[in-house]
Order: sequence, then C-alpha cells, then structure tokens
Amino acid sequence: MANDASTVFDLVILGGGSGGYAAALRGAQLGLDVALIEKNKLGGTCLHNGCIPTKALLHAGELADQAREGAEFGVKTTFDGIDIEGVHKYKDGVISGLYKGLQGLVASRKVTYVEGEGKLTSATSVDVNGQRYEGRHILLATGSVPKSLPGLEIDGNRIISSDHALNLDRVPKSAIVLGGGVIGVEFASAWKSFGTDVTIVEGLPHLVPAEDESSSKLLERAFRKRGIKFQLGSFFEKAEYTDGGVKVSLANGKEFEAEVLLVAIGRGPVSQGLGYEDAGVAMDRGFVTVDEYCRTNVPTISAVGDLIPTLQLAHVGFAEGILVAERLAGLNPVPVDYAGVPRVTYCHPEVASVGLTEQQAKDAYGADKVVTLKYNLAGNGKSKILKTTGEIKLVQVRDGAVVGVHMVGDRMGEQVGEAQLIYNWEALPAEVAQLIHAHPTQNEALGEAHLALAGKPLHSHD
Ligand SMILES: Cc1cc2nc3c(=O)[nH]c(=O)nc-3n(C[C@H](O)[C@H](O)[C@H](O)COP(=O)(O)OP(=O)(O)OC[C@H]3O[C@@H](n4cnc5c(N)ncnc54)[C@H](O)[C@@H]3O)c2cc1C
Repeated sequence: MANDASTVFDLVILGGGSGGYAAALRGAQLGLDVALIEKNKLGGTCLHNGCIPTKALLHAGELADQAREGAEFGVKTTFDGIDIEGVHKYKDGVISGLYKGLQGLVASRKVTYVEGEGKLTSATSVDVNGQRYEGRHILLATGSVPKSLPGLEIDGNRIISSDHALNLDRVPKSAIVLGGGVIGVEFASAWKSFGTDVTIVEGLPHLVPAEDESSSKLLERAFRKRGIKFQLGSFFEKAEYTDGGVKVSLANGKEFEAEVLLVAIGRGPVSQGLGYEDAGVAMDRGFVTVDEYCRTNVPTISAVGDLIPTLQLAHVGFAEGILVAERLAGLNPVPVDYAGVPRVTYCHPEVASVGLTEQQAKDAYGADKVVTLKYNLAGNGKSKILKTTGEIKLVQVRDGAVVGVHMVGDRMGEQVGEAQLIYNWEALPAEVAQLIHAHPTQNEALGEAHLALAGKPLHSHD
C-alpha cells in the first residue's frame, strides 16, 4: 500500500525516454513542478538501445568500408577486421557521455527524478517504490519494446531483437534480418560493412515500405550492389534451430539458414499491467489513443511517444513531450503535423524524406494535379567526390507548393533539414530556386532539383 505523498506535482511523468524527458525539461523550464519516473535508464530506447548506438555501429561500418575502398581514392589502406570489443567501447563511450549530460540537465532543471517501476493508480497518481506521487496532470510515456511473432521466441543468442544485436559479442558470419523496415535495413547495412553475409526477409513488396517507392527501389539497387541479399513479398512461416544457427522458412517455400536471426518486425507499446485501463484510459491494441494535443479521454492524463500510434521516432517524442508541457503551462502550442516530420534511415546509402510520397500526394490532390521531378546525384559534384550515387525526388502540387522530398544517397540525411523547411513553409519551387546553395555541397543537389522544377535547370537536362 502506497503512502500518501504530501507534495502534489503539477506534472508526474511515467517513463524517462525521449517523450517523457522532453516534457520534463520543457515543463520545468516553464515553471511546472515535475516528477519524472524511470525504471531503467534516463534517456530510454533512443539513447541506450536505439538511435544513438545504431548510428555508432553504422559509423564504425562506414569506416570499415572506407578502409576497404581506400584504393579507389588513391589512398593505401587495408581492412584488417572488426574488433567488436573496440566497437562496443566506442559506442558505449558515446552513450555514456550523452547520458551524463542528460542526467545533469534534468538535475539542473530541478526535476524530481525517481528511479523505479511506476504504476498508474488513479487519474492523478502514480505509485513507485511504495510511494504515491500525486499530480495535477499525469503524462504516460512508457514507450515501446521489440515485437515478435507467435511461435517465434527471441532467445537473445541465435534469435535476437535489436536490443541483443546492439551488444552482440561477435560479428556473426551470417544473419537473416526479419523485417525490411528502418531498424532491419540499418542493422543489415552495419553488419554487411562488418563482413556478415546478410539476407533480409520482408513480407511487403519493398524494403523501407513506408517510403516513396522510388526510394525503396534505389535502396534495393544499392543493397544488391553491396551484396546484401533480400527476399521481398513473402511472409515468415517458421524458424528452427540448426547445428550452427537458425533456419527460416517462408510461406513461398523458400528456406534460409544463418548463424543468427534478427527479428525486426516492429515495436509494440509498453502498456500492459500499468493500470492504464483501470484508470479508464482508452486504448487501441495496446496503444494509448490521444487527440492532436496528446490528450487521452481522461482529462488529467496525456500520452506521448512510442506509446501512442504516431510515428515511432525520437524527435516525434520530443515534439509531443514539449507540446504537452507547453499546453499544461498555459501556452497555446500547435499540434504536430506528422507529414512534416523528417524521416531518415541511416543505412548505406541513406534514405531521407519529408512530406507526402507520390502516391499519397495523388490520393490527396488527384493524380492529374501531381508533378514529380527526379534529380540524379550523378550531376552533383560533392556526391561524385564522395563516390555516392542516388537521387532527389520532388513531389509538387501542379503550379503549387512542394509537398514531398525524397532523397537517397550517402549523407543525404543531413539534407533533410532544408527539405523540411521547404515542406513545412509550403515553398514554391521558384522560391527555393531563388536561394543560393553553396558549391560544392550535396545540399546543392536540393537547389538544383528546385531549379529544374522551376523550369530553369542548371546542371541537369531540360
Ligand atoms: C534500434 C532502434 C533504432 C532507432 N533509431 C532511431 C533513429 O535513428 N531516429 C529516431 O528518431 N528514432 C529512432 N528509434 C526510435 C526511438 O528510439 C523511439 O521512437 C523513442 O525512443 C521513443 O521515445 P519514448 O519516450 O516514447 O519511449 P522510450 O524511449 O522507449 O522510453 C520509455 C521509457 O519508459 C520507461 N518505462 C517503461 N515502463 C515504465 C514504468 N512502468 N515505470 C517507469 N519507467 C517505465 C522505459 O524504461 C523507458 O526508458 C530507434 C529505435 C530502435 C529500437
């Protein structure tokens, strides 16, 4: 039985990941008295098991590729192999530096940080470590965990989730990656760079199926060239242990064998047994449902991040957390425009986009109202210097604004910042064409694409 606490906080937050801690930091900044409850590590999935560690692995993979490819640039390099302990040391060093910084930030904003597993006990309270934390408002931000399929048991050794893959003590000789979405293709890319023989299995017809089809096809072409194998359009049936690893059978009768099977079929919300339903919070298949202000049906409870059915991205969690804090502090924040959220898949080559795919634009505006333009990175000096290939595709409403930007190529994730301004400020091609882009940069490719869409291509054909 929890004790009654004497303090009533303005905001009690359950879960200290991207969504929860962003709300805590912004709330405290706006003068709210905030309690933040976290059962594991402040920073959540993104910092400890997601964005940051995967990008460190991908960067180590990039260096491995560069060591192999030095001769193409006239530099004598040899690739001697991966020291996996060294990779983990580097990755963990990045995480611990950021972790310390975040802990310092939360402390300096005077957020009451509580370590322990919390449970919602009413519309205005959370119990943790035998103590009751009362809040005028409660924010649910308990995030998500890797999903599996019925009959497919993740053992952490041969059949693994992304959590295990991040800390594997070896570079597997071969791997099957179940799921060709963002997480699957990022691991496939990093492992291939480390020397693993990789096969991706994706039930839908394309890799990164949420992206514009042209980006998926470009990625598939690039992966084929890198020797990453993939099986598209056929669903997983079963996995069995073999002497050396795992055998996967698909519905189309095909079988694949490898040392490890990474299950990357998506992430499910953490909401079971946490008292949400008992407090009357409306849910849909485990996700907490909210309106555009992240309000649940219970007036004193909001929810953000991977726990709600919006894009599972750290920066979406940040934005939703900030939105809730600002709303509670009496500001008048605008809801998140989810189409305007930049999306980056950090494989080699990168896939980056914002706004609508061509198909979504056609559905929204009518097929005859949509214009597209493709600018090949072959015409971009900096991309040539980097020896990367790819494309920028623009989706425009005829005689109107650019409503979609889709990019494939190494480092193109860094270009998504300008792309999101173009989308979110509803820029016309001629307005972007007017802006001078520095030469030689990959950023210039965005400028060139808009010059072409505005009818005055410079380094591309009419
Ligand atoms: C491999 C991988 C790579 C990714 N890469 C990217 C990327 O490059 N870019 C990007 O934007 N996103 C990426 N993501 C997604 C990103 O990590 C998530 O969208 C983000 O972490 C969601 O934030 P959240 O706060 O909703 O949940 P989480 O970060 O999962 O945080 C929830 C927190 O709640 C805590 N918690 C749960 N239950 C309780 C309880 N009962 N009591 C107390 N605490 C509790 C958990 O311990 C956790 O710390 C990646 C994810 C993965 C798995």
